[in-house]
Amino acid sequence: AQMMKKGLPVKKPIEGVKNVILVASGKGGVGKSTVAVNLALALSRHLPSQDVGLLDADIFGPSIPTMMNLSGNPLLTDKNLIKPLVNYNIKCMSMGFLVDNNAPVIWRGLMVMSAIEKLLRQVDWSPLDYLIIDMPPGTGDTQLSIAQNIPVAGAIIVTTPQEIALIDARKGALMFQKVGIPVVGLVNNMASYACPNCGHHSHIFGATGAEKLSKEIGVDVLVDIPLDTSIMEAADGGYPIVISSTSNNPLVQAYMSLAEK
Ligand code: ADP
Repeated sequence: AQMMKKGLPVKKPIEGVKNVILVASGKGGVGKSTVAVNLALALSRHLPSQDVGLLDADIFGPSIPTMMNLSGNPLLTDKNLIKPLVNYNIKCMSMGFLVDNNAPVIWRGLMVMSAIEKLLRQVDWSPLDYLIIDMPPGTGDTQLSIAQNIPVAGAIIVTTPQEIALIDARKGALMFQKVGIPVVGLVNNMASYACPNCGHHSHIFGATGAEKLSKEIGVDVLVDIPLDTSIMEAADGGYPIVISSTSNNPLVQAYMSLAEK
């Protein structure tokens, strides 16, 4: 009974972590990890005195090691906590640091839950002002478990503008709202494409999708991020655009504006 309050499990904060922000998506491949990584870096750049961490909760397809150019086996502290690996001033933890990158992870639901629980609570995060969690796509057990067990300041939903992505983004947003996690807003990723030859902007996935969803579920579109190869090359090369480009780059400004919100 102690665990329950109004029928909901009591949420236990992660020691030493002030604010937890979820970066979620309905579908895979919409750019969620890219947003999570650039948001963490933008926050750290915007608030240099604050400590920022990044947790890769995508057990089956960890992207953070590649995008943050980190590899290797974390050490343990004398309290037996896993030490996060650090790059670009961000403390990072990912299943990719603990298992062989090339081996597929074949686990049952319960093992996934206990892995997530360990990545949240058995890591030497403290002190952190912000912990950004790169969530797995969809609305499965991991999402529910995180949503129900830790206090979350807010969730950001990344989507692309086509109907097929928006349907799942809607489901994700509704799930968070249902479990009492504020949805801060939508990131409309790959919103448009600028032709490198003539500079013309085209909305290859449609122009109004994210805005329509935003009105329907009552959350703002926080930012439109164009489809741009420099974002992809930077992220996949382990040197994300927010730190590899100057502050007058409009793409950097897009991520910075997200951090400022
Ligand atoms: P998810 O986490 O949703 O599965 P990722 O962040 O891993 O998606 O992105 C999938 C691929 O798309 C990556 O190669 C990434 O570099 C690329 N990507 C993401 N956002 C953009 C963008 N705005 N422009 C160009 N490429 C992008």
